[in-house]
Amino acid sequence: MGSVLLNSIKYVHGVGEARAKLLEKELGVATLGDMLYHFPFRYIDRSRTYKIGEITENNTSAYIQLRARVVGKAIAGEGRKQRYTVMVADDTGRAEMVWFKGIKWIDKVIEHNREYIIFGRPSFFRGDLSLIHPEIESVEKALSRPRESGLQGIYSTTERLSTTLGTKGIYNIMCEVWNLVRGKIVDYMPDYLRKAHGLISLEEALYNIHFPQSPERLKQAQFRLKFDEFLGIQLNIQAHRSLRTGARNGFIFARVGDKFNTFFHERLPFALTEGQKQAVRDVRNDCVSGVQMNRLLQGDVGSGKTVVALLTMLLAADNGFQSCMMVPTEILARQHYATIAKMVEGVGVRVAILTGTTKTKERRTILESLAAGEIDILIGTHALIEERVQFSNLGLVIIDEQHRFGVEQRAKLWTKNAQAPHILVMTATPIPRTLAMTLYGDLDVSIIRGLPPGRQPVKTYHYTESARLRLFGFLKEQIRRGRQIYIVYPLIKESEKLDYISLQEGFDAIVRDFPLPDFRVAVCHGQMKPEAKQAAMEEFKRGDADILVATSVIEVGVDVPNATVIVIESAERFGLAQLHQLRGRVGRGSEQSYCILMTDEGISAESSKRLEAMCQTSDGFELAELDLKLRGAGDINGTAQSGVAIDLKIANPTYDNQILQLTHRVAREVLEEDGTLSMEKNLSLRQLRDRYAASYKMDFSEIS
Ligand code: ADP
Ligand code: MG
Repeated sequence: MGSVLLNSIKYVHGVGEARAKLLEKELGVATLGDMLYHFPFRYIDRSRTYKIGEITENNTSAYIQLRARVVGKAIAGEGRKQRYTVMVADDTGRAEMVWFKGIKWIDKVIEHNREYIIFGRPSFFRGDLSLIHPEIESVEKALSRPRESGLQGIYSTTERLSTTLGTKGIYNIMCEVWNLVRGKIVDYMPDYLRKAHGLISLEEALYNIHFPQSPERLKQAQFRLKFDEFLGIQLNIQAHRSLRTGARNGFIFARVGDKFNTFFHERLPFALTEGQKQAVRDVRNDCVSGVQMNRLLQGDVGSGKTVVALLTMLLAADNGFQSCMMVPTEILARQHYATIAKMVEGVGVRVAILTGTTKTKERRTILESLAAGEIDILIGTHALIEERVQFSNLGLVIIDEQHRFGVEQRAKLWTKNAQAPHILVMTATPIPRTLAMTLYGDLDVSIIRGLPPGRQPVKTYHYTESARLRLFGFLKEQIRRGRQIYIVYPLIKESEKLDYISLQEGFDAIVRDFPLPDFRVAVCHGQMKPEAKQAAMEEFKRGDADILVATSVIEVGVDVPNATVIVIESAERFGLAQLHQLRGRVGRGSEQSYCILMTDEGISAESSKRLEAMCQTSDGFELAELDLKLRGAGDINGTAQSGVAIDLKIANPTYDNQILQLTHRVAREVLEEDGTLSMEKNLSLRQLRDRYAASYKMDFSEIS
């Protein structure tokens, strides 16, 4: 980056101290360079100017541009209801522009009888054309500005920012910034790569992304900048990967011994599915390769990942190594412990559980046995990563439902050994392959497709309040047949109190509608003590409760095969991945199961799309791809829940898959020839690599 790009945005004409602070706080823009990388999120065509008479009630969905003269102004209403109306006219008709905010300022700048370029979304009020809060600019000024083509970028702002700096304000600053940086942008992309891939220069790209000279130039600019983003990330990921695989210091699990064999031949109650077999093969190959394993095992809810994990842990034990399995919740830890301890009875492995609620005395015993090598498999929550948990010979770490763990938490686990243990990360929130490639390029991926035989897909329906009575009738019918039911309420941090109230009200209503002694209702939510939660879950699991009213606590891990219906209240408030996880709570037995998504009538178009998708497919991978499309790459950035934070400003792993694949190959070729980017022709690429190093650190680089 040329040094001018590092200059503060503060000194740019029209910015100043206060706006600079806001820009930094709201958009993370501190320097000219930051500003240049604040790209428009879409473009509008302003090459066409309409006549007022051309606008009809049929074409009010798009933004339009008018050129008209001010013929009158009026202020109506009082206080917060005040509205300011400006009448404009051209030779075909009249229109009004309306403001509810910023009235004083607008009144000052608008001059009677002057001509303006007006830009906004038309609407009709009692047959009259009106534009609410349009952009306006005097004709003289509009004509004096550089406008290379009709395409104008629209910039995202934030709610706080938009009152002082809307998209037009940002556009204006961008024009100023451009005057300062023109001719000074140094391209870090080596000529040989630019030529090979037909990339325009960085300066041209940045110019055209903000001020497209033509639709073609805009496309080239987008291609260049997406290429840069993906290549920057790939250069990091692949460098780490070659470090890890080059080290060849992985533990070797050469022996398939008694423990594995006894379990596999005598205890395993079912035959493995093809997907499970392949996953086990992948893992076994990794563990004899001499390279530390770093594998992501993806499989839909209920696809049977646990047994793959268990087989791997037995393999470790056969080779004299300890394993640990880290899971996100206490409930899940207990459940895994119960399942696994039972499955390996008589196999000759020692299994223990360690969580936040393990009593002091018990904890001490466990820690001692662990350090003495007397425990083979330790299952637990994040309590496992505490300092004082020391293994004697940790050879394998399994992480279940990895999206729930922060990156630092994961990192702590692998520093428990001088030599890094093998890592198997399991997730039921499928990350589309394309995204996995961007974000987890350092992980090898195994996928278990499909479910064990004999499962019927869950039927999913979207209902509104009007169907509640019918729904309750259906639930009663299911209970009479001996089935059990989950009813789930959203619990989202910011409004925890409110959510808690709605859960309480829901619980009360259900107890009213499902009275004793015919119906037994249990409740489980985040504000209860762990013991009370555990007790409620147990009650439901034993079949002593017909209905479990819960928050998304039950999202992962609860396994009650007799539960056949899950009702998700305010379903529009859950993300697709979460909905899919919740749905995975049913359909675990042989009975037909149902997932009912409840919402009010008026939900957003985007929410309806999500719910519709849920009704149409039960394939988690399809849903994950769709989720990415609905949310766009922008939302992946720093999504706390996914534990992934890669700052993609323009590229989208779903839509730009081809560019992703291309850069994947380019990075490999470059690094194969020059792993440290030390050759003259590659030196400048270091800038690109280092620019994305920080985002990649969020990932699995700590492993090596
Ligand atoms: P998840 O992948 O969601 O963690 P689990 O490992 O909990 O799934 O498995 C779900 C259920 O399927 C468990 O009850 C498990 O015993 C059962 N299961 C796993 N593999 C098979 C198989 N090959 N055949 C039949 N049932 C299986
Ligand atoms: Mg699981």
